[in-house]
Amino acid sequence: MHLASADAGRTWHVAPRARVQVDRTDPVAVQDARDDHRTERYAIRRGLRRVWRNDRVTGCGRAGARPDGEVVVRYSPATAATGPVTGFSGLLTCGNVWLCPECSGKVSAHRAARIERALTTAVDRGGWAVLITLTTRHRLGIPLGVLLSDGVQAGWRAVGKSRAVRETRKRLGVLGIVRAVEITHGPNGWHPHVHALVVFAGRPPRSALDALGAAMFRAWSAAIAREGLPAPIADSGGLDVSHLGTRMREGTLASLSAWAAYAAKGITGEAIMGAVKDAKGRNRSIRELMRDGVLGTRWESSDGRAAVTTDDTAVELLREYEIATKAVKQLTGVTELERALGLDEDTATDEEIAAAEAGGEDVAVIAGGYWDTLVEPVAADLAAAGERFGPDGIRRWLTRRGVPWTWPTGSARTWETIREDRDQDTARILAAAGVGSS
Ligand SMILES: [Zn+2]
Repeated sequence: MHLASADAGRTWHVAPRARVQVDRTDPVAVQDARDDHRTERYAIRRGLRRVWRNDRVTGCGRAGARPDGEVVVRYSPATAATGPVTGFSGLLTCGNVWLCPECSGKVSAHRAARIERALTTAVDRGGWAVLITLTTRHRLGIPLGVLLSDGVQAGWRAVGKSRAVRETRKRLGVLGIVRAVEITHGPNGWHPHVHALVVFAGRPPRSALDALGAAMFRAWSAAIAREGLPAPIADSGGLDVSHLGTRMREGTLASLSAWAAYAAKGITGEAIMGAVKDAKGRNRSIRELMRDGVLGTRWESSDGRAAVTTDDTAVELLREYEIATKAVKQLTGVTELERALGLDEDTATDEEIAAAEAGGEDVAVIAGGYWDTLVEPVAADLAAAGERFGPDGIRRWLTRRGVPWTWPTGSARTWETIREDRDQDTARILAAAGVGSS
């Protein structure tokens, strides 16, 4: 970015936020990227505590899930799939997909896996899918609450009720429709839209799929116009139908599983907060509003100065967003699709998924009352220390920072045994080098 302004010959530019490309074959680079992302997520969650009104969300990440207020630090060694993981037990979680960068990540990963499984099952049995996007036409100044209730919700209800849609659904053998609401904000104000993943038992002809998209759009658009909002226009971005087959033929996505992963991820993680920048580059995702409002923008000058500006407008928009999204479900239709496919239904709630604690070995118990003040503000650093230096790295980190901690119950090791081990190691090394004292 080169949004530069000049003062006294000095030019300023926006500092790059995160590394652009990560070499996935380099474990150090991968760990660096993981640390950066976690640091940012935790920092955003902390900063948002002064924005949200919802107590459960502002309490997320604080101690309190154990009656004594203790927090247990856990460690899982690297596996074939992931590097080592530091986890915490005893923290409160909120499970709010709209508002919490930490919980929404966990919940959306879980949802994406469910959708991917359903989609792959359907297509393996000869089925098919399309991803249909329905947008609203927005003007600056229309409150998000209105666009959601009179736009997205009224429009989607009409799609469900439409006779034309129902008849087409029946004729084409629709197994289910998973619908997700995505919200961005741009120069024309709030821009909520719906992604609908339509899954079929067989493979309907292309023309029939387009007809279904058109029928859905007609019902959607008419209902929104009836509510007094500007009617969406199909040709100018109101309707977009992404075909599994086209994508595969074009070579943009090599396989069904890649498309399934793309569709699942697209309507879960990215739909919620949009980790990735909006394709048109003009709209901000919720994640970007969070960054701009809470972390701010870091500027660097040509002569080595730095400054941070925060965007108060973004904070105001987020406050509006919190109230407006309260009554809206971000995702619907997954359970129905699982049922139609005869898959065992997943009944875990978002709160349960977010509250599921990391496994692994208990490494240290942080005494009650110390997590929130001494550890939580720098918890990302503790997690990184664990993943780089293992269980002893976690204990050293706590000791160095003066955090009162104890060994987990049943642990045979103490600092004494660690010291003995170290002394024995030293003696062995010295003996091997011929420096032994005897
Ligand atoms: Zn949370």
